[in-house]
This record gives sequence, structure tokens and C-alpha cells, in this order.
Amino acid sequence: MLPVIALVGRPNVGKSTLFNRLTRSRDALVADLPGLTRDRKYGEGRVGERDYLVIDTGGISGDEQGIDSVMARQSLLAIDEADIVLFLVDGRAGLNPADEMIADHLRRSSKDCHLVVNKTDGLDPDVAMAEFHGLGLGQPLPIAASQNRGVRLLIEEVLGEL
Ligand code: GDP
Ligand code: MG
Repeated sequence: MLPVIALVGRPNVGKSTLFNRLTRSRDALVADLPGLTRDRKYGEGRVGERDYLVIDTGGISGDEQGIDSVMARQSLLAIDEADIVLFLVDGRAGLNPADEMIADHLRRSSKDCHLVVNKTDGLDPDVAMAEFHGLGLGQPLPIAASQNRGVRLLIEEVLGEL
């Protein structure tokens, strides 16, 4: 069974951009995996010799309250399905109350979570990452998904621990 990586975070942080970077095709649908449902977007990818599955999540209706208002219900299901959770935040927008709610949820889960600061292109990475240390999810990992910067290193690092 391939390792499963879930991409979570509030809307507009760059999850789908990273998903497209991590998958060979734009939306390779993985049909034959037991226990995986179709309402999230699955893709298959490879970095070096390592194959993995990625789950993209999104879609908030606006009627939700609490954690559901910042994170799609699908994201919570994707976390359950994943071996590794990449929690994306936006290095340009800075720390957001929604990020804190998601971090609270992830800290209470038993999953292998990694905090990823996206959109660090043109920013000083140390400055961009500084405020996210306080989320209590360890050392933030900087990337710029739209520039494909830091992406390979990120995947090698998170898969290397499995
Ligand atoms: P999602 O809602 O989390 O799936 O976010 P998207 O992948 O749709 O991206 C939201 C916006 O952020 C889009 O306009 C992307 O082009 C932009 N974006 C994504 N990654 C980066 C990045 O590394 N740097 C910059 N500057 N913009 C990015
Ligand atoms: Mg998206």
C-alpha cells in the first residue's frame, strides 16, 4: 500500500497548486484503493524512487460553524485516511485565526503532521516562518508551490521518516 499524504489548510493557501506539483497528471483518479472514497481528490505521484498518494481537499459552503468553517469536512476525513498530513499555511498572509483552529485539531490527532509554509517566494524564509512556530507543530518547512521550490525536499523529508 502506498503512503497517503493529505493536504489540509484553509482556503487559498495553495493546496491544489501543491497537489498539481505532486501528481504526475492533473487529477489521476485512484479507483482501486479499498476504503478510499471519491469525494476528495486523489492523485498518485513519485519523488525519486518513492511513490505516494496525495489527497487534495477543499470546498467550504459558508454555512459551517467552528472547525468546519475553516476546514472542509472532507479535510477531517482525509486526515483519517492519511499516513502523513501536510498542513499548509500562507507565508504572505501570515498567521490567521483559522490556522490556529486547524493546528489545535491536528495537535490532538495522532497523525504524523508537518507544518508547511507556502508562498515563500520573494520572502525571507526565516521571517516568513517565525510567526508559525507558535502553532506548536514543530519546525515549519518553507515551500513555494507555484515555483516548485522546496517541494522535492519536503516530500523526501516527510517520506524519509516512514
Ligand atoms: P487552495 O485553495 O488551498 O487549493 O489554493 P490554490 O492552490 O487554489 O492557490 C490559491 C492561490 O495562491 C492561487 O492564486 C495560486 O496561484 C496562489 N499560489 C499557490 N502557491 C503559491 C506560491 O508558492 N507563491 C505564490 N506567490 N502564490 C501561490
Ligand atoms: Mg484547492
